[in-house]
Amino acid sequence: MTTHYLSKSKIMAGLQCEKRLWLEVYRSDLIEYGTDVEQRFAVGEDVNDVARTQYPDGVFVSYDHGAEAAVEDTQRLLVEQPGTPIFEATFKAHDVLVRVDILKPCREGYELIEVKSSTSVKDHHRADCAVQTWVLECAGIPIKAIHLCHIDKQFVYPGNGDYRGLFHYENITEQVRELSRAVPQWVHRYREMLNRDEPEIEIGPQCTDPYSCPFIEYCRDEETEYPLRYLPYISRQRIDALTAEGIEDIRDIPEGRLSSATQEWVRRITIAGESELKPEAAEVGEYGYPRYYLDFETIHFAVPIWKGSRPYQALPFQWSCHIELASGEIQHEAYLDTSGNSPMRTCAESLIEVIGREGPIFAYGSYEKTVLNALKAHYPDLAEELHKLTDRLVDLLSIVRKTYYHPDMHGSWSIKNVLPTVAPYLDYGTLGDVQDGSAAGTTYLQIINPETDPFERQRLVSELLAYCEHDTFAMVELVKYLSNGVPTTPTT
Ligand code: SF4
Repeated sequence: MTTHYLSKSKIMAGLQCEKRLWLEVYRSDLIEYGTDVEQRFAVGEDVNDVARTQYPDGVFVSYDHGAEAAVEDTQRLLVEQPGTPIFEATFKAHDVLVRVDILKPCREGYELIEVKSSTSVKDHHRADCAVQTWVLECAGIPIKAIHLCHIDKQFVYPGNGDYRGLFHYENITEQVRELSRAVPQWVHRYREMLNRDEPEIEIGPQCTDPYSCPFIEYCRDEETEYPLRYLPYISRQRIDALTAEGIEDIRDIPEGRLSSATQEWVRRITIAGESELKPEAAEVGEYGYPRYYLDFETIHFAVPIWKGSRPYQALPFQWSCHIELASGEIQHEAYLDTSGNSPMRTCAESLIEVIGREGPIFAYGSYEKTVLNALKAHYPDLAEELHKLTDRLVDLLSIVRKTYYHPDMHGSWSIKNVLPTVAPYLDYGTLGDVQDGSAAGTTYLQIINPETDPFERQRLVSELLAYCEHDTFAMVELVKYLSNGVPTTPTT
């Protein structure tokens, strides 16, 4: 039996899903990280950088020369600089490697500090610390306290790089100690599993919890055409019960087995293979003109960069608005703040200027309302005008959810799933690099980065404008379809 070398991240992958760990070891060529994961890594690095500034005398252990060198450097620092906090202190025991965010000397031992970009302590953070604690203690390092250092959501950035108060330290020593007793079993179990064939595990809630799994595309390819998870709000227990009966595809579920009306609706349409538009959808055509179609793009930072903002506050930097007149004419207005300064006020003011005094404002979901409410709270002098906008909002998603379904929507009423079924020519896949909200945020950050080449910046601005415009034009076409039931084409 091969004794597989493990790292903390491999053990964490195993705790999420054993198949994920197996694939990471044997099929890393299948890994596909989305932009959301790349953003998460970048956020994690930012948070770690700021956390380290709280320990000005700390020293960093580089990984540039590999694990063995990092372990040796750590040992040297422990001997030569015994009172100094160490960042990324690296240890190995029983062929398990861990790196500690901050190892701080304290009375008769050390304090282990794990830095996280979340705003609270989660179960997987405790497991993460348990693996570290077990390895460090096996390596002869006495751990006296374990702290989870996470973001305090209430922090308001006062500016000038002053991040005192950004972090909250939670003492999780007792819980981690308890959990660390299980670590030798995890290690043994994963090593045994890695000596067998690929585990058979189906897609489920573990694929996104606690993190998006990078093998999701691979696992989707192994699924049946309409897996049970496409049924809205279906519980894991229900899926397991049906699977135990040999039912894996929605089309194989017998009539009368589903108690939820929405699930039964989806089952029926999936079997029929044709979309259904309920007659009441046409009521959307009764809204008057001019009609506005609004979409915001927002960014949030774990470490706020603009004075007066809070961690993870949704900060609008762009909006798009299509305006449909009674004559049928469609106009378009847009705003994108590329200044690099806080974009919230300019976003609010520019929108108030173009959106008129009357007429419904269609938005897909409740997010635009949330953003407008946050702007109201932030700028009391604009609150009255912004309040008039929230009063005119019409949530298109709630209308679509009640009245329309197509088998190709795969159980989701996200506009990206709905649109290809009513206006195939508007598929998001036809856009450039920016095809979702995560990519929009990343692109915005590149635009406001002073080091971005001016020509590249201009290209990114065009991509971002095109993406947001696509979102609002999609709503125009969707309302047209709901009103008359005729799929739209580029010429209509
Ligand atoms: S996609 Fe889901 S089932 Fe597949 S390896 Fe990842 S977590 Fe496991």
